[in-house]
Amino acid sequence: FEKGSAEAENQKLDVPANLEWSEKDKIKATFVSLARNQDLYQLLESIRHIEDRFNHKFHYDWVFLNDQPFDDAFKEATSNLCSGKTKYGLIPTEHWSYPAWIDQEKAALARERMHQAKVIYGGSESYRHMCRYESGFFWRHDLMSEYEYYWRVEPDIKIYCDIDYDIFKWMKDNGKDYSFTVSLPEYKETIPTLWETTKKYIEANPKVLAENNLLEFISNDEGKTYNGCHFWSNFEIANLNFWRSDAYREYFEFLDRAGGFFYERWGDAPVHSIAAALFLPRDRIHFFEDVGYFHVPFTNCPVDPAIRFGRNCNCNPDKDFTWRGWSCTTKYYTVNNLKRQKNWEKYTS
Ligand code: GDP
Ligand code: MN
Repeated sequence: FEKGSAEAENQKLDVPANLEWSEKDKIKATFVSLARNQDLYQLLESIRHIEDRFNHKFHYDWVFLNDQPFDDAFKEATSNLCSGKTKYGLIPTEHWSYPAWIDQEKAALARERMHQAKVIYGGSESYRHMCRYESGFFWRHDLMSEYEYYWRVEPDIKIYCDIDYDIFKWMKDNGKDYSFTVSLPEYKETIPTLWETTKKYIEANPKVLAENNLLEFISNDEGKTYNGCHFWSNFEIANLNFWRSDAYREYFEFLDRAGGFFYERWGDAPVHSIAAALFLPRDRIHFFEDVGYFHVPFTNCPVDPAIRFGRNCNCNPDKDFTWRGWSCTTKYYTVNNLKRQKNWEKYTS
């Protein structure tokens, strides 16, 4: 790699590498963060990273969603850091409460049992509403209706590399509907019946299965069982129209009726991932190997020095999770026959 390449110089001078980009190329896209008022300072960390590495050039909007009203301190501090328009949405109660068909006593017993069994967030009621909301409702919020693509941002994340191109436009121009930076297996105790329920839905609606889907990534036995592999949904850049599709809406409805968001602890990550893997042709899913990313406890750090230095990344490749044993991204590369990053074999443990 060349350290003093023209591209790297450009980045230091804050000149977009793609000089042809202008406001009129901006697409209908937004950042979206679900957060509580007390998440403010952790979220500011994330916003600072995104603005410094990407959005100071593009000024995309930012939508904040909360089941409680945002306070003035939250609005003032976030709107001060965001370079695009900021919008603050209250989640309607119907989207953050128990549907009529849920037996709340059974749900409480399930929480107690999972708490005793030390399942992560097993005893939490709010976490379950959060996972259900991210699965079935954020994309239906009024504030999201004008957008086509979104980037989900959580508190306390880090972005390690410059993103000097319009990543939303890139998604659109390249026909990508879902993207990720980290993938790994889900804790089985949180989803005992998710796969059986999914299979019932598919049996009743076989047409939802995409040709050339990514079943291979989520199942090692042609669909008999789920291997737990999922895209880590605290980072997502995706097409909202995918969630708005009949296939996904009906899938969510089917899962919601089955009750596993409350009687078990179904996460939005496996739900999104199973849907993307089954209902999308595999070439519409993308792994961003060039977006250095951290959400506790995992890091995506490009192990190829040409990428790492070319994009001014400041992460430690020894911390990269992508090529380790517990990562599912290795499987993603294998089933898709993708060429692995240079040096990957030096970062497997
Ligand atoms: P983890 O990443 O799985 O450990 O879960 P987080 O605690 O980061 O929660 C996931 C996302 O949902 C983050 O953006 C949180 O700010 C948000 N979140 C979690 N619980 C709540 C809640 O009760 N209310 C609101 N408004 N946001 C929440
Ligand atoms: Mn988080």
